[in-house]
Amino acid sequence: MHQLGDLEVVDGLKLPARERQVLRPGELVRGRDGFTRRLPRWFYRVPSWEVALEVSLAPHFKLWEFLDVDVREHELLRVHGPRYVPLAVTLLAAALEAFRREVNTYVHISANGGYRSPAHGLSGHASVHCWGVAANLYRVGDDLLDDVKNISRYSDLAREVFPAFQVLPFGSGVGETDDHLHLDVGYAVVTPHGMGDEEADKNAGPLPGGGAEARRGRKGGA
Ligand SMILES: [Zn+2]
Repeated sequence: MHQLGDLEVVDGLKLPARERQVLRPGELVRGRDGFTRRLPRWFYRVPSWEVALEVSLAPHFKLWEFLDVDVREHELLRVHGPRYVPLAVTLLAAALEAFRREVNTYVHISANGGYRSPAHGLSGHASVHCWGVAANLYRVGDDLLDDVKNISRYSDLAREVFPAFQVLPFGSGVGETDDHLHLDVGYAVVTPHGMGDEEADKNAGPLPGGGAEARRGRKGGA
């Protein structure tokens, strides 16, 4: 049985050119709000769909639920494998798990409603789905999220258990949804321990704290 810890963490900047063209690690993109954002650089490498089916991100969420895409995703990530997903998907799964426990029933993520690569047909502007931190829910238990009543109700519930959830309001305009509930945790990026994220800077020094005196009376120093 494969687990999250079995997955290789890869530096997107060191992937082969074909993968980099699809994933665009560390590249800058402009959002609809006019702000420029840097796409994620660090990914879990998912060697096969079978592994995605087995790996749990949270007690009630498997990795495949965030990777389920149709022909709108680039064929490199659908057909040829392996797949890649930004590390921050684990934060989303933890937040969704809190929601799942509150509703105490099945929470269904739409196809194309989890991680989408920058090459995905629905990836416009700086879609937060390209960060792996957004989920479109189409159903909770027996309730379809396709009307103002259910979308508003579950949106309120989600923010009760995870107040930092960003939600899109009901509607048919830009930045609104009428056939699913969009939840995201903001443009979060996870940088793994033991891997550098920035170029060396001779002006950058360590923080001054953590000396023996400050640590006195404390156990551990992490
Ligand atoms: Zn969405």
